[in-house]
Amino acid sequence: MSEPLLRVQDLHKTYRLPGGRALAAVAGVSFTLDAGETLGLVGESGCGKSSLARCIVRLQTPSAGRILLNGTEITTLPPAALRPHRRTMQLVFQDPITSLDPRMRAGDIVAEPLRNYGLAAPDARIAELFAQVGLRGDQMRAFPHQLSGGQRQRLGIARALALQPSLIVLDEPVSALDVSVQAQVINLLVDLQARLGVAYLFVAHDLGVVAHVSHRVAVMYLGRIVELASRDQVFSTPAHPYTRALLAAAPQPDPTAPRIVPPVGEPPSRIAPPSGCAFHTRCPSAMPHCAQQTPSLRDIGEGRLVACHLA
Ligand code: SF4
Repeated sequence: MSEPLLRVQDLHKTYRLPGGRALAAVAGVSFTLDAGETLGLVGESGCGKSSLARCIVRLQTPSAGRILLNGTEITTLPPAALRPHRRTMQLVFQDPITSLDPRMRAGDIVAEPLRNYGLAAPDARIAELFAQVGLRGDQMRAFPHQLSGGQRQRLGIARALALQPSLIVLDEPVSALDVSVQAQVINLLVDLQARLGVAYLFVAHDLGVVAHVSHRVAVMYLGRIVELASRDQVFSTPAHPYTRALLAAAPQPDPTAPRIVPPVGEPPSRIAPPSGCAFHTRCPSAMPHCAQQTPSLRDIGEGRLVACHLA
């Protein structure tokens, strides 16, 4: 079997807080991502999905575990050794207005990664990248504030594509946009993947968006993946009570359809997470031993991974 594009093994990210307390944002996450594939990563705010995304592109250094890109371990590589690998993985942020330099013209923003690697950035190449994302050539002279929100996100995508990466990590890439613009950017991402074969790790809290773009979906709760399966499995027959709760809480196209009871209350503290299954304080199916025994993420058939004693 060939090595996947990305392999994440038992990854941890723990932040040290004032007073010596620890916050385990990512607590033992493992998954793989193949070339040209999209893995959707969903969960409530604060579940650790953005910390995980930042560790994978090495904006943050993981506390433990391994990240392998094309079979090469990059987990703790120092900056100089990491540099050639950074070319193959790019990050697109949620809010392009804060991630793009407001003093640079759009053409220079897209050319900058090429120049950083000592590569030529002729206008023809920049214009080609603009065209790929649906921006006009004359917009190369614009500053970010002169573009709309959707155009700025297209600019961020063009910049991410400049070095022809194999992997783009998209951290809530459309959640700051109007719904109609969201659809345009999502369709652009799907189209780019079909043409360029780039893989996406797509971080989002909007299940509708994830359903549209993903081949597989990983559901995170308090720093752990609790379900990882194909898109159809997750959305048609969710196996974990938390996945069912997320789907129940999402807007329904048919308001008369039977609904599953959403999870009760707020997510518990990440500094002192519940013992055993961390979801037991909100789970409608919880049993007494759920508070003592942590369920492992195991294959329940057809490659579907679920962390629940009932699965
Ligand atoms: Fe609910 Fe228990 Fe399954 Fe956790 S292990 S999701 S508490 S049934």
